[in-house]
Amino acid sequence: MSDIRIKNLNKSFGNYHAVRNLNIELQDGHLLALLGPSGCGKSTTLQLLAGFETVTSGEIWTGDTLLSHADGVIPPEKRGISLVFQNYAVWPHMTVAENIAFGLKLRKLSRADVETGTRRALDTVRLGHLADRYPSELSGGQQQRVALARALAVQPKILLLDEPLSNLDAALREEMRFEIRRVHDELGITTVYVTHDQSEALVTADRIAVMKMGELQQFASPEEVFDTP
Ligand code: ADP
Ligand code: ADP
Repeated sequence: MSDIRIKNLNKSFGNYHAVRNLNIELQDGHLLALLGPSGCGKSTTLQLLAGFETVTSGEIWTGDTLLSHADGVIPPEKRGISLVFQNYAVWPHMTVAENIAFGLKLRKLSRADVETGTRRALDTVRLGHLADRYPSELSGGQQQRVALARALAVQPKILLLDEPLSNLDAALREEMRFEIRRVHDELGITTVYVTHDQSEALVTADRIAVMKMGELQQFASPEEVFDTP
């Protein structure tokens, strides 16, 4: 099971409470959008899920595994989590295929398994025809697909996306949000998607957590969030 259960989660930086008493339960295979204005605590919540930050109090669980609590964390690399950030972070000196293969090679898979895994991830994001190109030869949207493919190649239990489309122009943002929904429907990986864009959340998410000043304001389906009069 790769559900996510966030219980009474708090995160302070000095006197500043970035996340306040957050409670969220996300079912296995669902896509949660963390939605809210800049500074409301979305990225901090994602960092806590990734294990990049320690929690001040509260707990984060997946299945029967306690990922984070005040006295300790399971390190990021042992969480079965992949991340995609807004600034793609694809390596310019590697081809598309080499970028995607990198994480698989780190896992010391056989050459055949690296090739199969790379091919599968390329096909998922429909970039097979660009395998041997370098990132500088690709559009922003294509580069972000490479970043997504690299994250997917290692077959994570949980996918974390932090404003993955915010560096793209409006037309590409529109296209890529449907792409993310399609990939999610195809693979069913439990996903947390940070965005400040309501229409992105509406298209991509099964559940939306609306945050304001570190607190959860609303947790509901997209229909419920946007149909409220
Ligand atoms: P969002 O992702 O919703 O824009 P963040 O989670 O990045 O919000 O930030 C929430 C608040 O916590 C902001 O006021 C930010 O300045 C503060 N914050 C985030 N990270 C740190 C940090 N490492 N040290 C101090 N304050 C931080
Ligand atoms: P369960 O509650 O048993 O998990 P759901 O019907 O909630 O079943 O979800 C099953 C699958 O359907 C999930 O993988 C999810 O990605 C997808 N899904 C759920 N809600 C929506 C939605 N509003 N739009 C598109 N796909 C959805």
